[in-house]
Amino acid sequence: MAPLVVREPAEYFPSLVDKQGEGKGSCWLWRSSVKDGYGYLLIDGKRVKAHRFAYSLWVGPLPEGRYVYHRCGNPLCVRPDHLRLTDGRYRTRH
Ligand SMILES: [Zn+2]
Repeated sequence: MAPLVVREPAEYFPSLVDKQGEGKGSCWLWRSSVKDGYGYLLIDGKRVKAHRFAYSLWVGPLPEGRYVYHRCGNPLCVRPDHLRLTDGRYRTRH
């Protein structure tokens, strides 16, 4: 039996993103699973929001209790410079 190859999320994540362009206003759209309007991926059987994963992958660790807000208003966007950390005031939106 061939060994099971487990690919790390950080490895496959970029291949699931459709970069609409490199210009500042261009969103990078998530192209995989979506639930309730937000993209997600499964990590160890847990659903992790794609934009939160993108933030931790490309910007930095996500502190407990903080939220990631979309500056561009597009919930499927995972472009790091369109994401901003908030203290929870935007919780109802994201
Ligand atoms: Zn965007």
